[in-house]
Amino acid sequence: MNRNLRRRCETIVRTLDQRIGGIPVPFDLNAFLDQLEAERDRPIELVPFSATAPGQLCGIWVSTDRLEVIYHKVATSLLHQDHIILHEIGHMVCDHTGAALSNADQVRSLLLTDAVRGQVDTVLGRGAYTTVEEQEAELVATLILERAARPAPAAPVVAPARPEVTATQRRIETIWGRRPTRPWS
Ligand SMILES: [Zn+2]
Repeated sequence: MNRNLRRRCETIVRTLDQRIGGIPVPFDLNAFLDQLEAERDRPIELVPFSATAPGQLCGIWVSTDRLEVIYHKVATSLLHQDHIILHEIGHMVCDHTGAALSNADQVRSLLLTDAVRGQVDTVLGRGAYTTVEEQEAELVATLILERAARPAPAAPVVAPARPEVTATQRRIETIWGRRPTRPWS
């Protein structure tokens, strides 16, 4: 894979991570979408569809003037489903403008909700994504999940007790023996 493409996608995901206040670790799709909605100030609606969809279609992103809609195939595993949705998010955050639809009429009748039916013709009429755009969306999805697989942030370092407190404590222990732990502490 093209090294520039990878660098570009890494920058996009790093920037996204900062702008939304951190990709959830471990990954939580709903939390991630909430953050993304807040950052973009636009609702994102997920509309699942079953295996009756045509061809190999896994997901479609439709952008309307009011909201973003992601139609996604109900996948066998949740991880695969997240990946399908994140691929469409990849197109969104990369500002891709095409929609790769081979059978627009079938897709329209199967998938579209009333909320977007009236506006979707122009969306479906756009050109297909380029191969590079598909690679970008796929890589962005992968990088988002990779970032979410990072080890959880280390527990905050506990500030050392103030030295004079420690010294006093030690003194008390020396005089009285180790104090029993209070049952309510
Ligand atoms: Zn795609």
